Amino acid sequence: MHKLLILLILGTASSCGGPAVNAQAISKADTVLICKSKAAHAYHRYECGGLKHCTYQLARMTREQAVAKGFRPCKICYRK
Ligand SMILES: [Zn+2]
Repeated sequence: MHKLLILLILGTASSCGGPAVNAQAISKADTVLICKSKAAHAYHRYECGGLKHCTYQLARMTREQAVAKGFRPCKICYRK
């Protein structure tokens, strides 16, 4: 029983650094949010203030998928 607990703790600690975390960070940066309104034609970052105006559901997808669907980068959160 104690051995199992130690293994669990070690497993959690070792996942805090290393390539797995980097891969996760990249995939999150590549994920964008889209407002499901008919008028919406832009994709947003997670922290975008413009998403507060969206009264519809939000869809989450990769940036590639959003671009493929004809969405453009939001002017508020992709200013640069
Ligand atoms: Zn935005």
